[in-house]
Amino acid sequence: MDLTNKIAIVTGSGQGIGRETALVLARHGADVVVADLDIEAAENVVKEIEKLGRKAIACKVNVGNKNDVNRMVNTAIETFGDLDILVNNAGITRDAMMHKMTEEQFDQVIQVHMKGTFLCMQEAALHMRKQGKGKIVNISSISGKVGNMGQVNYAGAKAGIIAMTKVAARESARYQVNVNAIQPGFIDSDMTRAMPEDIRQARIKDIPLQRPGKPEDIANAVVFLCSDYSNYITGTTIEVAGGRSM
Ligand code: NAP
Repeated sequence: MDLTNKIAIVTGSGQGIGRETALVLARHGADVVVADLDIEAAENVVKEIEKLGRKAIACKVNVGNKNDVNRMVNTAIETFGDLDILVNNAGITRDAMMHKMTEEQFDQVIQVHMKGTFLCMQEAALHMRKQGKGKIVNISSISGKVGNMGQVNYAGAKAGIIAMTKVAARESARYQVNVNAIQPGFIDSDMTRAMPEDIRQARIKDIPLQRPGKPEDIANAVVFLCSDYSNYITGTTIEVAGGRSM
């Protein structure tokens, strides 16, 4: 799956699944805008990509802010001359049972996941439409399919991302821009390491393939959806969950 000289933006790529996705895209030949709230983390990932012999630039961005998103897309075009790939990966959790969830916890999660995905797709698609090519991959979650307890904000946003993926895919198809989503299951990252140990163990027990996913498992699916091997796939969702909640 050759992505040589493709230009990619990966949001939330300072750590976790996003970082691994940026590195795996680079290993397949892409140059990457490493976009994250945490600029130091992003700069470290840039150094790792450069060691692989590819180009990269760090960009401090809050995906829920339109000006930041506009600057992020311009950074890709001004630095590398194009934009072929957008991976909407940035994410947060603010878990609480519904009767205890604050309005702020609800709004924060919607802002990053739903508004962030909308703003990034909107801005990137404007450019991709003009070029008549592009691949957008949105990172949803199995929580958006099954509705994990304590995640009315997150599961709602992640289900919304699936619907937004389909709308964007329909609207972008005539311009040869593919828009797809991935629903990760339980992946070993800071996000899941922050869970109470009993809940972590219960989730892992529920996985038919009998192990948590690795960030690389998600990154490999992203690469497929960004490659020519998926040119006839749009508006769909791939579950990368070890068989959990099939
Ligand atoms: P993570 O380790 O917490 O990494 C998330 C990254 O996103 C962090 O670098 C974070 O920066 C950044 N970020 C947060 N808010 C942002 C914003 N407003 N603008 C730009 N960047 C922002 O999480 P992860 O586990 O790798 O998850 C990555 C994605 O996969 C998320 O969308 C998550 O919902 C999804 N997912 C994860 C799992 C899992 O099991 N881990 C399962 C299903 C779906 P800071 O560190 O500075 O906040």
